[in-house]
Amino acid sequence: MSVKTDHGAIEAARHGHERSPEWPRVEKEHLLKQPHCVACKPGTNTGAGLQVHHIFPFHYCIALGRPDLELDDRNLITLCETEAGKPAQNHHLLIGHLDDFKSSNLRVSHDATETFFGMSEADIKTDHRWLLEKVSRLKPLDQMTDQDKADFKQAMDAAFPKAG
Ligand SMILES: [Zn+2]
Repeated sequence: MSVKTDHGAIEAARHGHERSPEWPRVEKEHLLKQPHCVACKPGTNTGAGLQVHHIFPFHYCIALGRPDLELDDRNLITLCETEAGKPAQNHHLLIGHLDDFKSSNLRVSHDATETFFGMSEADIKTDHRWLLEKVSRLKPLDQMTDQDKADFKQAMDAAFPKAG
């Protein structure tokens, strides 16, 4: 098995956070439930690596009051990622992060299963909807205003109400 770059952990580390020790177990359980990239047509892209992606990036969740969402399956989605020497679409980078691992796409669920479902890298990169989303993608945590943070927190709490 090849070693993949853990982009989520790299971004979190820049902000002083690391993955929970529970993460490997939660990641494995998610992959059993959702073993294919949700943006790929079934049966395609079989040589690709898979990433369990956080819809709300986990270091934002930790910093903005919802650390529970790091390990909450509702906040997870499986996307493909290019591995060296294998052809793949890299839906993780293109749809999950809108082409920049420092940013993220909060509409990833809808975009992966509807807007850009089954599309190749070349087609996504020239799609005007993707180009528009790229312009308004999530700001890095350290560039967010207090209003941005309040909006983000409200979006997290509305999408995934705290259990209990
Ligand atoms: Zn894919």
